[in-house]
Amino acid sequence: MPQKLLKSAHYIELGSYQYWPVLVPRGIRLYTYEQIPVFLKENPYITDGYRAHLPSKLCLKSIFILSNETVNIWSHLLGFLLFFLLGVNDMAAVLPAAGASREDYVIYSIGLFCFQVCMLCSVGYHLFCCHRSEKTCRRWLALDYAGISIGILGCYVPGVFYAFYCNSFWRQVYLLTVLALILAVFTVQIHPLYLTQEWKWIRSAIFCSVAGYGIVPACHWVWLNGGFDTEIVQVFFPRVLVMYFIAASAFIFYISKIPERYFPGQVNYLGASHQVWHVLVVLMFYWWHQTAVYIMHYRHSQPCPQYSSSA
Ligand SMILES: [Zn+2]
Repeated sequence: MPQKLLKSAHYIELGSYQYWPVLVPRGIRLYTYEQIPVFLKENPYITDGYRAHLPSKLCLKSIFILSNETVNIWSHLLGFLLFFLLGVNDMAAVLPAAGASREDYVIYSIGLFCFQVCMLCSVGYHLFCCHRSEKTCRRWLALDYAGISIGILGCYVPGVFYAFYCNSFWRQVYLLTVLALILAVFTVQIHPLYLTQEWKWIRSAIFCSVAGYGIVPACHWVWLNGGFDTEIVQVFFPRVLVMYFIAASAFIFYISKIPERYFPGQVNYLGASHQVWHVLVVLMFYWWHQTAVYIMHYRHSQPCPQYSSSA
């Protein structure tokens, strides 16, 4: 950071027991929960470390200061970098070595592009939520939610593509229904009440339904393959279960505000529920990407039976 920005050493509270010196650029100060505008008040257990009232330029500069959003911003910025580098590695090494078809390249590009968009929308929201204009903050929040839908789409596309690799009818049916679902979510997001506190549970219900819908193609796939005794189901079904386990844990942290609920003010900067949610989302996408690589190798090594109606 340029030296001229480092005007003041501001002592902020880290947890409720230690004090760490943090250099804060001029124009950016940190606020307590009581001091911030109403539209930023959504988690009373995070008591301090808020940025607020900032113009766009200072929102951007605040990426380098320690605030209660620092971990949220950097976790998904690094997540973006991870999926970008995974994409480069897939295109340059993994896919050519696997003898991938043009379709494989397209599916990997779509999946990783969706993950990267999701990460960047989240970074944008956590950077600009402290904007002095409430409208700007709301727009970034809407984009953050849209990013989550796109991230979910990025999980469905390779999942459905490789699960129904040998059954193009059901592959198309599920890809189209998922696309229609995501488009329906985008349409609902335009509703003026969508971002309000009153719609908090409706928002969660919508995201759970879109993510939970995956159980339908998963069960159908198990049935088409002849149940839980077949090899392919035993190889891949546990991976789907792990995926849902990570997703459910992430959502539980997100919605319950644990651990800050039990330690108000002590995890303002590190260890808050939203940070756990962010890390688990990156982990989930990474897990799903590795699963796609695994199932692709499996599909290439065992070509589809010529007249098979199974998946
Ligand atoms: Zn977030």
